[in-house]
Amino acid sequence: MKPLLHRTKIVATIGPASDSPEMMRKLLLAGMNVARLNFSHGNYADHASRIQRLRAAADELDLPLMLLQDLQGPKIRVGDLPAAGMMLNTGDRLTLVPIADYTEQPHTVGIDYPYVAEEAEPGTQVLLDDGLLELRVEKIDGNAVHCTVVEGGVLRSHKGVNFPTLNLRLPSMTEKDRRDLDFGIEQGVDIISLSFVRKPEDVQTLKALIQEKGVEIPVLAKLEKPQAIANLEAIVDECDAIMVARGDLGVEMRPESVPLIQKRIIQLCNQKGIPVITATQMLDSMIHNPRPTRAEASDVANAIMDGTDAVMLSGESAVGDYPVEAVTMLARIATEVEPAIQFVNYPPNRTDDADAISEALHAIDDTLELQCIVAFTETGYTAQLASEERPRTPIVAYTPDVKIYRRLSLNWGIRPVLLPHFEGETVETVMQRVETDLVQRQFAAPGDKVLVMGGMPFGTAGATNFLKIHTIAP
Ligand code: PEP
Repeated sequence: MKPLLHRTKIVATIGPASDSPEMMRKLLLAGMNVARLNFSHGNYADHASRIQRLRAAADELDLPLMLLQDLQGPKIRVGDLPAAGMMLNTGDRLTLVPIADYTEQPHTVGIDYPYVAEEAEPGTQVLLDDGLLELRVEKIDGNAVHCTVVEGGVLRSHKGVNFPTLNLRLPSMTEKDRRDLDFGIEQGVDIISLSFVRKPEDVQTLKALIQEKGVEIPVLAKLEKPQAIANLEAIVDECDAIMVARGDLGVEMRPESVPLIQKRIIQLCNQKGIPVITATQMLDSMIHNPRPTRAEASDVANAIMDGTDAVMLSGESAVGDYPVEAVTMLARIATEVEPAIQFVNYPPNRTDDADAISEALHAIDDTLELQCIVAFTETGYTAQLASEERPRTPIVAYTPDVKIYRRLSLNWGIRPVLLPHFEGETVETVMQRVETDLVQRQFAAPGDKVLVMGGMPFGTAGATNFLKIHTIAP
């Protein structure tokens, strides 16, 4: 029997190290469920051909794959610097000026934030390059912000700049984000994420822009700002999915605060049934090594135990030396850890038919040895209901809609399968087709018990109303 392996989903960022059709096929076979396209890098021609290759690889292997377009958001960066970078020694002076006012001179860099001199004050902390370098503001002089280097290092072009204590006057989406969004919509991406979300209105702006284009695409907020943590529940309520973006979160807030924030976000998302991705530095050392550190293996395992729907690779799969090994390692950790987890059964959000079905599903899953849960789902709702219960049995979600097939790739424990049109059919006739498919895919064998769930009559979206214990014809 071919087991339905890891239940936790794997998001892999695609970059130069994972760009070839062969590599994409290997990543899919290793367990990649979501491919992340990072719009902080690359041009449209490259993204378009990458999307085309990813879709082709997934179709060729008959595997579901969600394409996640990650919009850069309002990130402040330093301007152009010499190719070798600029060496900053602790105690050096460095002046920051808005890029528009920048002229090349020693100990000065431009940053793409015009209000820096208005908002910074003596003592303000400035972090560069994901917090690797640190400055302290000493004095403001016109549009120039004079700083002392607290933590030195080499500063290179376009590295990020963070002002953790300032409430910056930045739009929720830049002009570039808007152009990138239009491109992503044209390309038919499956989900769009926005970086540096601070408040629910930021997500509403993105949703309104998507709606204006007459399409329906799920949205994901990357939580990486202190303001987002302050507005956590309201932001989660606006979103279809969430990312714990630990890279910037650990720069904007104290690194030691990240573990508890991660747990809080995952718990809230689990309670609300919103898929959540835990991201960044999960297997960071695998950028250069074929094996992770034990601490990294533990970090991945703990995120899975926290209840994350998905774990994400960034540099490991985009620019690392071992992208396939990193995906394989995530899958191996998940497969090892998941059977030992007693997931929390959160009290129901609803008291309706669907909720009663969920409760019954849980009881049956605990009582019987099932081979899989078969969810018939047109909108994805029935399958998500099953996923929220974190059953011990894998969920195979049959859907006639290719968009839903791809989207369900993100939800914990769901293996989506495309099943042509079943509206108007009876459970018996559809099950004949599904039995053949389950056996062919080796998800179940003749004589196995499966639990079937869906909404009758087929075609009534969102009305989950039946559960059937079914034995595959011997
Ligand atoms: C992060 O900061 O953790 C993150 C995922 O965002 P990005 O990789 O876009 O910086």
